[in-house]
Amino acid sequence: MTEIVTGIHYVDGSNANCYLIEQDDGSLTLVDAGMQPDGKKVIEYATKTMKKQPSDLKTIVLTHCHVDHVRGAAAVKAATGAKVEAHQAEADYISGVTQYPRPGGATGVLFGLISPFFNSKPVQVDVRLAQGDPVGGFSVVHTPGHTPGSIALHDPKSRVLFVGDTARYIKGKLVGPPPHFTPDMKAAKASLARLSALDFEVLLSGHGDPLRSKDAPKMVKDLSEKL
Ligand SMILES: [Zn+2]
Ligand SMILES: [Zn+2]
Repeated sequence: MTEIVTGIHYVDGSNANCYLIEQDDGSLTLVDAGMQPDGKKVIEYATKTMKKQPSDLKTIVLTHCHVDHVRGAAAVKAATGAKVEAHQAEADYISGVTQYPRPGGATGVLFGLISPFFNSKPVQVDVRLAQGDPVGGFSVVHTPGHTPGSIALHDPKSRVLFVGDTARYIKGKLVGPPPHFTPDMKAAKASLARLSALDFEVLLSGHGDPLRSKDAPKMVKDLSEKL
């Protein structure tokens, strides 16, 4: 069991990272659903480790459309009846209405070769989010760049910020989004600069470890200037 800060759990072994937020009323919000096996891990974590009912998981919020963050969502939705929420610029990619554009160059060729293995079972997005919307006690921050509808989630009270893949804290180092899978690095840089103006001391990313530091906003600012 990994409770990162009071009321926020990391689903052990998930990849990309899946997080469960426990609300004051006992209900749960899932941030990202990982790959297909991660969906099962989320349900097991909620029911066995947290001793919740499947129906306590009310909301699945997806930081962006990449398969390693969304593929587990269909199973979690089927098991719990949770609503799926994502940014309005991302929703059609997740629902499978629009195909996500392939990256250019060699990455695009690779993407084409591996995409049959990545074909996710699309999951219907029930709520199309916009900047400032509330989700699971957090508020949505639109952070385009890594994808057009990438989002962060911020709570100034607990000073926690979820960032998806816009920043990643890996092996003690804060890095930006993976360049080959980030079509608009200029927008990502601007998104990081905007995030650095928020008040937070725990940064939870889609890959890697939690970053806990009073200097976290400054670290994000330094990263934005480096990109
Ligand atoms: Zn991604
Ligand atoms: Zn990712």
